[in-house]
Amino acid sequence: MAKVLVLGAGISGHTAVTYLNRYLGKKHEVVMVSPNSNFQWVPSNIWVGVGLMKPDQVKFKLAPVYKKLGVEYKQALGISIHPEGDAEIDSAYVSIRYVSEDREGEEEKVTYDYLINATGPKLNFDATKGLREHSNSVCTYDHAEHAWSNLQQAYKKMENGEKQTFLIGTGHGLATCQGAAFEYVLNIAFEVHKRKLSHLADIWWISNEYELGDFGMGGAYVKRNGYITPTKVFTESILKEYGIRWIKRAAVQKVEAGKVYYENLQGEKHTKGFDFSMLIPGFAGAGLKAFAKDGSDISDIIFAANTMMKVDADYTPKPYEEWSASDWPKIYQNSTYENMYASGIAFAPPHTMSKPMTSPNGTKIFPTPPRTGMPSGVIGKIVAQNITHQIKTGKKDHPHEASMATMGAACIVSAGYGLFKGKAAVMTVRPIVQDWEKYPKWGRSIKDTVGVVGTAGHWMKLFMHYMFLYKAKAKPFWWLIPE
Ligand SMILES: Cc1cc2nc3c(=O)[nH]c(=O)nc-3n(C[C@H](O)[C@H](O)[C@H](O)COP(=O)(O)OP(=O)(O)OC[C@H]3O[C@@H](n4cnc5c(N)ncnc54)[C@H](O)[C@@H]3O)c2cc1C
Repeated sequence: MAKVLVLGAGISGHTAVTYLNRYLGKKHEVVMVSPNSNFQWVPSNIWVGVGLMKPDQVKFKLAPVYKKLGVEYKQALGISIHPEGDAEIDSAYVSIRYVSEDREGEEEKVTYDYLINATGPKLNFDATKGLREHSNSVCTYDHAEHAWSNLQQAYKKMENGEKQTFLIGTGHGLATCQGAAFEYVLNIAFEVHKRKLSHLADIWWISNEYELGDFGMGGAYVKRNGYITPTKVFTESILKEYGIRWIKRAAVQKVEAGKVYYENLQGEKHTKGFDFSMLIPGFAGAGLKAFAKDGSDISDIIFAANTMMKVDADYTPKPYEEWSASDWPKIYQNSTYENMYASGIAFAPPHTMSKPMTSPNGTKIFPTPPRTGMPSGVIGKIVAQNITHQIKTGKKDHPHEASMATMGAACIVSAGYGLFKGKAAVMTVRPIVQDWEKYPKWGRSIKDTVGVVGTAGHWMKLFMHYMFLYKAKAKPFWWLIPE
């Protein structure tokens, strides 16, 4: 009997666990360790942040689902990985610390034959002074609920005739997830317009992108109404339509009550006042440690500097001009221990997709790579398939691959809510990472890289919310729904 341990019940880890359970059945053991007793459908937190959904609509309790499936669930944090065991335990294990009420603080060593690290991002608020205290976030349902409570106060002030400035975007020079912030700013503009308060709202987008529409993918050329349009034009025209002004090439460095301090690529220091802000923090790895059998710290070998796990990528430092699609990992196997994988945001990318830029003061100002839900789910699935293959056949190969340099992704930025009151910008790209060798003209397959704006995309987003929550709850035939 083999034992597979998964750390992190987010989009990637939960996908991996449900497929492992389906493929391996009761003959093998699948264990999930994750600190939050809920699964959350993160993309819908945007709607919580504008009061259109309640947190209960985007989350559900994990324990009953895992009980139904027969997956052992430990509500705990993974602390350190011991891939060779230690002097006492002659087996690979992970040290975990319980956070559940009944076992709070208790520690345990959980052994494994295969480990999937799917711990997602650490929201690195501390990298930007004052960001946690003086700005809002929609990265979790709790954050989004808090943002909604503050947003309502801004609406109330406008209803009383007071002008309000909104500042939405990235809260660090290297932050990613521009798509989420972009969706939030459009939702605010939509809601303000719906309340007939636009004349009192000054809405700003602030971003570390060199050009708008970079989205951490180095931008894209999209087919739109039969024409090829750079995402810069696509994005700027949407912002203009919604009456949103922008600041680009900006690294937010400090936030105070009602004011951000940022540096731009020219090295100039500026401030921008706001009444309500939502700024995405920088991301880092979960901060797990790793130790060899003799107790020596091998974290530097297992993890990259940002504490995301090293996998089968080419991490050789090279200039932007020499980056290649083949640098990106395909099977997400740790580069040192073959029974260890990193899935979703937890894996360390070989480099960014956007061109690195530095201000004359040495401040790095460019987005780090986006790892959206679709690739995170697909990676979780292929890692589960490869581990299943190895367990069932005893072979060590990986028949399933999912490189971000070959797979596509869809991004739906939806504003408004309900069947007839919403509108969305839908962008599909293939591949996610530009491949200038294969697609010398546009960097991507132009027939699969498309941008459209309309109500249909909004329906799709709403449909996806219900469909993915159905799938995550492992309801009948869940596996027929694609990632
Ligand atoms: C506001 C917002 C909106 C978004 N909208 C979209 C969208 O519209 N479309 C899209 O495709 N993507 C979207 N994304 C991105 C998408 O949410 C991520 O790609 C996805 O959540 C990544 O999955 P993951 O499993 O790697 O990480 P997560 O979903 O973050 O899951 C990580 C899990 O690991 C757990 N964990 C953390 N530390 C430990 C530890 N030490 N031990 C054990 N467990 C641990 C966490 O509690 C969590 O359950 C959005 C993101 C945000 C923030």
